[in-house]
Amino acid sequence: MSHIVAIVGRPNVGKSTLFNRLIQRREAIVDSVSGVTRDRNYGKSEWNGKAFSVIDTGGYVRGSDDIFEGEIRKQVELAIDEADVILFVVDVEEGITPMDEEVAKLLRKVTKPVLLGVNKVDNAMREKDAIEFYNLGLGDYTTFASTSGSGTGELLDNLVAAFPDKPEPTKEEIELPRFAVVGRPNAGKSSFINALIGQDRYIVTDIAGTTRDAIDTKFDRFGFEFNLVDTAGIRRKAKVKEDLEFYSVMRSVRAIEHADICILIIDATRGFEGQDQSIFWLAEKNRKGLVILVNKWDLVEKDTMSTRDYEAKIRKEIEPFTDVPILFVSAHTKQRLLKALEASVQVFENRKQRIPTSKFNDYMLKVIEGHPPPALKGKYVKIKYCMQLPTPTPQFVFFANLPQYVKEPYKRFLENKIRENWDFSGVPIDIYIREK
Ligand code: GDP
Ligand code: GDP
Repeated sequence: MSHIVAIVGRPNVGKSTLFNRLIQRREAIVDSVSGVTRDRNYGKSEWNGKAFSVIDTGGYVRGSDDIFEGEIRKQVELAIDEADVILFVVDVEEGITPMDEEVAKLLRKVTKPVLLGVNKVDNAMREKDAIEFYNLGLGDYTTFASTSGSGTGELLDNLVAAFPDKPEPTKEEIELPRFAVVGRPNAGKSSFINALIGQDRYIVTDIAGTTRDAIDTKFDRFGFEFNLVDTAGIRRKAKVKEDLEFYSVMRSVRAIEHADICILIIDATRGFEGQDQSIFWLAEKNRKGLVILVNKWDLVEKDTMSTRDYEAKIRKEIEPFTDVPILFVSAHTKQRLLKALEASVQVFENRKQRIPTSKFNDYMLKVIEGHPPPALKGKYVKIKYCMQLPTPTPQFVFFANLPQYVKEPYKRFLENKIRENWDFSGVPIDIYIREK
């Protein structure tokens, strides 16, 4: 289980510059398929063999200097709730501002590890200026400069050293597939789960308040046992009512990271909006299985909007990862709820499937022969062998004489061909081209 680091601080101290630096190296790998960075505010990083997620809270509460103090306060409180380590960034150029003091006041009360990072320490002179930050009452600090990267190694050392030990997951937690029900507030997550629980006599137990603070319900359906994770329950517990992107996304991070499958519930009357998209890409980035449920379908006038049009609209938004089940459901009328579960179980199976190397080569090498990678600078790329890697999520490697000449469009072509022949619906896949 990777740790979650939240970067907090007032605007313009350099949070996003630091964030970009932290996620840089890993990002190139994570986004090798889509080729785009979808979320400016969330990323994965690794240091000394420890993987962690980074959330730039400032990225969600973007604003100018007149950003409300209340907003910053909420941002910090949420970071305190959701992150394992809080990285508080201040700016040596500006020195301590009243808003820094506000944030420090909140952070002094926290039992979680808090790291104070003094940014923009571009030279030795500023090293001395940084001393004033002892006045924040947070103890020692680390100085760095996110633009040049100087000092960020030490910052990362300190960050990783501050990671708390995570409780070992129980045997059951390891073994049972986890289906997280995610979506923005009021999309109908709890209604969906309640409807399932209410009608489902196969339900086994309610495990409330597990080590992960989520509310898990164990299901036994279609001869298949799994935990349904209610993220709405987490929100309710914390009494956060705001319908802001930042909150629903941040609240989803942990649940998504711990899940195998994300059941993304959207509100049919509102469409596939910004928050839905953020949550979708968060799941995709984490290589989780995905199912989209368009809930409250009972409220939609079927003459004005057909499922086909609606579906097409969503698929447009999730390009290029369009191979995802989309179902139209109603938690109220219980329409297609079991179908939705069934689809989720199928995605779980898809994500687990392993294609035998011989079968994979037989099919893919023929495809490649009929449609080889385009020649570049008069050089021909030859792919002679390929296989699925023994990884938890589907990854495929193609061995080529000139791997650097195989560009994104061709990788996408390979991915499409894989999807045409094998069912990877709802499952993000990775394609790597390596030198043979
Ligand atoms: P955020 O609002 O906290 O996310 O801040 P940004 O990352 O957008 O940075 C605000 C400004 O500070 C930008 O103009 C950056 O170029 C600048 N900045 C960030 N890091 C450094 C640094 O290490 N040294 C200097 N001199 N400027 C920096
Ligand atoms: P959550 O915040 O995502 O857990 O959303 P809730 O389950 O609390 O639902 C938010 C509101 O939408 C409640 O008033 C529900 O009664 C309503 N709602 C949820 N699902 C449906 C549905 O399928 N049809 C209709 N008409 N209303 C729904």
